[in-house]
Amino acid sequence: MSESAQCIFCKIVRGEIPAVKVHEDERTLTFMDIQPASPGHALVISKAHAPDLLEIAEPDLLAVAVTVQRVARAVQKSLAPDGLRIGQFNGAAAGQTVPHYHVHIVPMREGQRAGAHGRAPAKIEELKALAVRIREALAD
Ligand code: 5GP
Ligand code: ZN
Repeated sequence: MSESAQCIFCKIVRGEIPAVKVHEDERTLTFMDIQPASPGHALVISKAHAPDLLEIAEPDLLAVAVTVQRVARAVQKSLAPDGLRIGQFNGAAAGQTVPHYHVHIVPMREGQRAGAHGRAPAKIEELKALAVRIREALAD
């Protein structure tokens, strides 16, 4: 069986499991992290399966980078954090838990202590409300 058949993010791309989506274009998909490190934590992924930075095709890498900037600006505008953490892990030893290339966008507040990953799943209704705010700022 191919890697992508079992991959949880490929399943989201194919619509086989639900996600609170923020934005979609030809090469990228953005959705809310189910276990956010802070409110507004979003993930930008390439639609094509590639495990990490070392293996992703350059056009997909570039497309993700452009989407990260667009979504980061929309998060800044809609949620007004004091800072934005943009992160990406390669390999389990580096903290990667889902081997499908993705970039974390984590809004940070002054003095906030947040790890790379959240500790508990968020309520879907809260994720949906945040996604609406970010989406509205993207459309502006
Ligand atoms: P990594 O450690 O691989 O960089 O981060 C994977 C991220 O994906 C984690 O922050 C985790 O909460 C998130 N995640 C894992 N499974 C799912 C899922 O099924 N749906 C969503 N929306 N996020 C997920
Ligand atoms: Zn995948």
